Amino acid sequence: MAAMKWWGWGPVGVEFTHEDKPDLGPFIKETLGVEVGRVASAPIRFKDLHIPEPRLPDGLRAALEQAVTAAFVSVDPLDRVVHARGKSLRDLIRQRRGDLPRVPDVVVRPGSEDEVTVVLRAAVTSDAVVIPFGGGSSISGSLEAFVTETRPVISVDLMRLDKLLAIDGMGHWLPREVWPRIVDAIARHARLNKQLVYHYFGSKNGLYQAVLEQAYADIRAREQSLVLADLPPERALRKLVLFAEPVPQYSWHVGSLRHQVGGPAS
Ligand SMILES: Cc1cc2nc3c(=O)[nH]c(=O)nc-3n(C[C@H](O)[C@H](O)[C@H](O)COP(=O)(O)OP(=O)(O)OC[C@H]3O[C@@H](n4cnc5c(N)ncnc54)[C@H](O)[C@@H]3O)c2cc1C
Repeated sequence: MAAMKWWGWGPVGVEFTHEDKPDLGPFIKETLGVEVGRVASAPIRFKDLHIPEPRLPDGLRAALEQAVTAAFVSVDPLDRVVHARGKSLRDLIRQRRGDLPRVPDVVVRPGSEDEVTVVLRAAVTSDAVVIPFGGGSSISGSLEAFVTETRPVISVDLMRLDKLLAIDGMGHWLPREVWPRIVDAIARHARLNKQLVYHYFGSKNGLYQAVLEQAYADIRAREQSLVLADLPPERALRKLVLFAEPVPQYSWHVGSLRHQVGGPAS
């Protein structure tokens, strides 16, 4: 993955220009009175930034390296500057001027929940400050440590925690009434943002299929607890059929599944 720009939005090497959009310049000029063709002030050069040396006690560094391996513990100046603040206009203006905030002393990238736990333990033991870093697009100053902070500051970058492992209570969080609605309503109901739904499931149909598969897998997993081998076939079959019925959060999913494969919907 390309590194994030330290002075602007997005990854290094990805630029947005008005030059291949002939109507954009005149539109901005007319609407905002800003001449986009005029050369704006360039950001300060990275090598001219005053980046303080990391204040990272040896013991803390060793504990972090033990937690996530040395490959995921970074004191690289560029990495630290990228993690020093968010991406609001105010942030970027100050960044481009070379007006840096309290730069984190280290950037750590845990790859699992267990590693996060060990990182946090190490931080508590060393009385260090921890700032989680998601996409780094905060516009509220919430990625910045206090400028007077004297304790070590650890930026915990979550980029390696990039998989949706499970959604709690899938059958609960998407009740039947919600399905006919648009994805906005589903996302609102599930307290997710719409982009996340599209990112993981591709479309409303993709989400629908994932829910069905999850419901089906859950029911099959629950069936494993049934002891049927010793029963006569008819009683075993009755027990199996009745088993799925009392699971109200799945009943309509199962009905939909039957409908999809051509069986009766209820
Ligand atoms: C150009 C631009 C346009 C934007 N448009 C919108 C918009 O239309 N709507 C909107 O709602 N927002 C918008 N935002 C705001 C921004 O997208 C949100 O702030 C974003 O959701 C923050 O998520 P993040 O993962 O980047 O968090 P970060 O910026 O990395 O972190 C935000 C805060 O959450 C903490 N944090 C991050 N991850 C965790 C975690 N796993 N556990 C605990 N704490 C954590 C961080 O320490 C920090 O305090 C925009 C921002 C930009 C730059």
